[in-house]
Amino acid sequence: MLGRYAELKAQLPPGTILFYQVGTFFETFEEDAKTVSRELSLRLTSREAAGEGRVPLAGVPGHALQEHVAALLRKGHSVAIAEQRQHPTKPRQFTREITQILTPGTVIEDNVLSAGRSNYLATFVVRDGRAGIAVAEASTGEFSGTVVPEAELPAELERWSPREVVVPERTAVEELPRLEARVSTAPRWTFEPSAGEQALRQHFGVASLKGYGLDGSPQLVAAAGALIRYLSTLRGGSPPEQIVSFRRYDPGQTMLLDAATRRNLGLEELISTTDRTRTPMGQRTLRRWLERPLLEASRINQRLEAVDALFPDYMLREGVREHLGSIPDIERIATRIVRLSASPGDLLALRGALEALGPLREALGPAAECSELLRRALAAMEEPPGVRELIAAAISEEEGEIIRPGYSEELDEARSFRDGAHEWLTRFEAEERLKTGLKTLKVGYRDGEGYFIEVAGKEAHRVPPHYEHRKALKHNARYVTVELKEHESRMLTAREEVERLERRILGEIRAAVKEAAPQLQRIARAVAVVDVVASFAAAAAELRYCRPEVTEERGIRIVSGRHPVVEHATETPFVPNDARIDGGARLQIITGPNMAGKSVYLRQVALIVLLAQTGSYVPADEARIGVVDRIFTRVGAEDRLASGESTFMVEMTEAAGILNGATERSLVILDEVGRGTSTYDGMSLAWAIAEYLHDDVQALTLFATHYHELTRLADSLPGCRNLKAVVEEVGGEIVFLHRIEPGAESSSYGVHVARLAGLPPRVTDRAQEILSRLEAEGVKGFAG
Ligand code: ADP
Ligand code: MG
Repeated sequence: MLGRYAELKAQLPPGTILFYQVGTFFETFEEDAKTVSRELSLRLTSREAAGEGRVPLAGVPGHALQEHVAALLRKGHSVAIAEQRQHPTKPRQFTREITQILTPGTVIEDNVLSAGRSNYLATFVVRDGRAGIAVAEASTGEFSGTVVPEAELPAELERWSPREVVVPERTAVEELPRLEARVSTAPRWTFEPSAGEQALRQHFGVASLKGYGLDGSPQLVAAAGALIRYLSTLRGGSPPEQIVSFRRYDPGQTMLLDAATRRNLGLEELISTTDRTRTPMGQRTLRRWLERPLLEASRINQRLEAVDALFPDYMLREGVREHLGSIPDIERIATRIVRLSASPGDLLALRGALEALGPLREALGPAAECSELLRRALAAMEEPPGVRELIAAAISEEEGEIIRPGYSEELDEARSFRDGAHEWLTRFEAEERLKTGLKTLKVGYRDGEGYFIEVAGKEAHRVPPHYEHRKALKHNARYVTVELKEHESRMLTAREEVERLERRILGEIRAAVKEAAPQLQRIARAVAVVDVVASFAAAAAELRYCRPEVTEERGIRIVSGRHPVVEHATETPFVPNDARIDGGARLQIITGPNMAGKSVYLRQVALIVLLAQTGSYVPADEARIGVVDRIFTRVGAEDRLASGESTFMVEMTEAAGILNGATERSLVILDEVGRGTSTYDGMSLAWAIAEYLHDDVQALTLFATHYHELTRLADSLPGCRNLKAVVEEVGGEIVFLHRIEPGAESSSYGVHVARLAGLPPRVTDRAQEILSRLEAEGVKGFAG
């Protein structure tokens, strides 16, 4: 038996866990068994295999398979299932074939996916210094890609946070960008541009790829084609029909936020604080928007205008949001419809969604008059004709029944025959009791045994001769008759007939609804946009945000800005702060003791800019944001010690990335750069980096540092200003005011704090002396 297992296992891409059906169990062996038992906390056993001694084994019962497979997929594993089938010619034997291959980046089932997150599958092809990147979302049909210089490949891939990346077989690990994704492989030839072209032309049924913006980019054609082919290979060659078009995107249209910046700024926390979406597709779109802020003021203002249309009118806004709340995940349902795997529940949910569409459109009407974006969304929410009526007429809401009575005459007849069969049994039982005079006679049924007549042991000697004995139990005996056996087979047929008809009709309905799938996808995307805009409006109202003025001019001005996450988390009331950064004050050095509020201030400025460029209102009284082309962050080394890398090296690599990548339109956030090394080294580097940013890059920079010497830069650099986080001394104790003000923190602050803390005067006086000398000697070198 393990021979067949090994055969199937060899057909699978490496690293795919194979579940092999044995009776009612699905079993895994060898390495797979170890992985499965570890990941799912299942018992690891072993079994005897011919010629191989004992091999490790872990299995799950059939009814629990789905749940376990879902758990493995969520943990990033790929899984194949080999089902047991009756042998085509030898009915007493079984064969096993692979019936499904499931991978983390290609699943479409709700029990594996998380509603609020997109689940991307990605691939890339590098040639002649350029990289083609293709990305697909199997559960929504999204399919897009781009071409970037080879050096930008890792950052561009990373911004999709793919769950799975497909690469050619035998790709060396060193050739892979660092990603937290499952790496799957496909045959090398499928990544050739010619193979890609063929796959795409066939999939879209077109003679030329011109209409998809793909010509002249062999890297992109190769990547996109490889992806389509991979998706269809997993499904035994049938194409991923939910993908109906390809969109080439321009990476220059949205801001690149690398993973480190997303983490440093706390994008996850920002999302969980501000998300007010009501639908899964809205939730996914909100995330996509926040991860890709826009770069063009006109597009940003279009979104802000839409938020503005919903913001002021409470009744209007909440009316829209209430209707949104009754719309399920039609985007993913549309995909299951295309794949003909939509469940009756999916269809009923779709019907509910279509019912909610009319009222939603009505509620949205007044707002759409003030916003181009909402107007377009409204126009896309055209209900496909006939779908709702068809589902309402055909799909039953009753337990244990798929198709409504009255929908199909053929089905109704089969059902009444099946139900009549029940009555027959009751009658048969009564008649037999009468005929035989056996008082204990009963008709029963057991799985595996079928129908039988049961008589108590004490009456068994009186059963008629045509009763055929089947089984003797402790107190009873069981019999069958020819009549009962005939009935049994009629009954089975009737039941099977009902099931067969229900499946057939469900199939017909799925096929009919499939026609409307592209329209359903359009509706889903329009609903998502409305949902995000409504979420921005609701958050703005609840959290007291203001509409930012977004312009193409350079410079940032914020009045009473707040940190969108920390403002809800502080013990004392949050202290708002202003910001004014522009060409004339482009480098701002922020000093102040620990815990004074420097890091919060830096992030709050960056998050306000990010929210504004996403098209959201911002936590401030007023804000004027000149769009920035990128937000760079470099945050204190001490947080990173756990990763085990040489922190100083990491720090300098990141600093290099910023100095080489930033422009005068970038916002650069530097928090304590230079900590990973000795004071003099660190200070010198911090100094030189600040100078370079001011003189050469001319980026808008906020630089928090504990090297107060850096405040002297303001004396010599015209575009440099000092800020300090103010603290007060009250009755010998330090009070953090969390106010950011112009000016430099006094250099002897540490000594001052030490004095307050009660260090003997001899120590603090001496420290003051040493400090003054060091300053006089050391820093001259920097300034001069
Ligand atoms: P620093 O970087 O100067 O050491 P942080 O910015 O990390 O200080 O702030 C320290 C703590 O002070 C924060 O965790 C927060 O609780 C509080 N805090 C910071 N800024 C404010 C503010 N503007 N209003 C109220 N509390 C604040
Ligand atoms: Mg800090």
